[in-house]
Amino acid sequence: HRTSGKRWQEVLLSEEDEEEALSARPVQIVVAHEDDHAFELDEAALERILLQEHVRDLNVVVVSVAGAFRKGKSFLLDFMLRFMYNQTSCSWLGGHEEPLTGFTWRGGCERETTGILAWSEVFVVDKPDGSKVAVLLIDTQGAFDSQSTIKDCATLFALSTMTSSVQLFTEYGRLALEEIYEKPFQTLMFLIRDWSYPYEHSYGLEGGKSFLEKRLQVKQNQHEELQNVRKHIHSCFSNIGCFLLPHPGLKVATNPNFDGRLTDIDDDFKTELVNLVPILLSPENLVEKEIGGSKVTCRDLVQYFKAYMKIYQG
Ligand code: GDP
Ligand code: MG
Repeated sequence: HRTSGKRWQEVLLSEEDEEEALSARPVQIVVAHEDDHAFELDEAALERILLQEHVRDLNVVVVSVAGAFRKGKSFLLDFMLRFMYNQTSCSWLGGHEEPLTGFTWRGGCERETTGILAWSEVFVVDKPDGSKVAVLLIDTQGAFDSQSTIKDCATLFALSTMTSSVQLFTEYGRLALEEIYEKPFQTLMFLIRDWSYPYEHSYGLEGGKSFLEKRLQVKQNQHEELQNVRKHIHSCFSNIGCFLLPHPGLKVATNPNFDGRLTDIDDDFKTELVNLVPILLSPENLVEKEIGGSKVTCRDLVQYFKAYMKIYQG
């Protein structure tokens, strides 16, 4: 079954290769096969992205948005792309009637598959200290249905955590920690959407901080497992944040014809989006990926990906 699917992919590849130079798009680099719980790294696809001459020797910043299906990952990533493509403009958010494109691109590329997608264009950014870094945007999609086991999800999120410098987690943050025993992770940001208690904790980073502190408190009457997760999370990440996003409005949430245009999105949401994206992606805030205390280049990252895949397959 899988072989025939693979052949079909290979046939398409030659056409995609030609297209690749012309248009940036999401590329699946890790596929999770739900039937036999196996993960597969598309080494060729990963190498095509990370071994491009102009980026391969630059230190890499990997920003990953992780979560279950239909949690708004692609929606958010598309705004992150707008920021990356229009950084110098104060109106990076885009035109009022402009449909969103990018990870939501429906040209047959974004299959609803569990796994890891990368944006094919790696962005080169000048940091304020004069160094150049390569920015890779990643979409990590887990499935939380009867088809997939908790272990599969944990494996996928662990993999994306290990290879990311910044991970945005839309819910289910706990799972990412189950297979991780050492410290070396950098930034974890919980992104809570549809926050409806701004009078208790305000939207944005500050409200998120106070909310998270409350949630991560270890209490005596908590189940031991929950206590351990709370203790563990601080020893895993050097920087843990939380951002509270308001509801984007009914058109976004329920209209099947919604195409991402700004006129259909609530103002509160847009205001917070304008705060959130630069926290993650503006040049002074970019976090270079480190493994074992050393910065990692795009070329190194390819090797780490391969090594981590072996660990999880073994
Ligand atoms: P993904 O599967 O995680 O990539 O999710 P998508 O980005 O494709 O979004 C899934 C659906 O949720 C779409 O209909 C979006 O319009 C909608 N959506 C996106 N962001 C939000 C949000 O913050 N709140 C709500 N309620 N819906 C959202
Ligand atoms: Mg998506």
